[in-house]
Amino acid sequence: MKYLNNNKKINSLPSWQELPLGGKVLQAGNSNDYQTGNWSENKIHWDQKKCKQCNMCSLVCPDNAILKNKQNKMIGISKQHCKGCSICIQSCPFKALYKN
Ligand code: SF4
Ligand code: SF4
Repeated sequence: MKYLNNNKKINSLPSWQELPLGGKVLQAGNSNDYQTGNWSENKIHWDQKKCKQCNMCSLVCPDNAILKNKQNKMIGISKQHCKGCSICIQSCPFKALYKN
């Protein structure tokens, strides 16, 4: 089972196409509330064998796209939320993240 921090079902969230024209994001910290993944031109991949579960990628990701299980272990990247900014790649000390 995959969880976001607020336990919302990922596929029930609105995508950016459903935002009103000229709509503004009025509050910070709401990356869980929208599907931002289809903004991405880059797909980020996770090499599970290299990952040491240090959590750095989760700390720096601005879109809460690092998926974890209930034991706080990384289990993947949310394609519905990852914008492909590559910050996580820069932060990973074990080169477990890369883009195609
Ligand atoms: S590229 Fe990495 S840091 Fe950027 S949104 Fe995707 S998972 Fe988060
Ligand atoms: S920063 Fe790299 S090693 Fe650390 S949890 Fe993320 S993918 Fe794994």
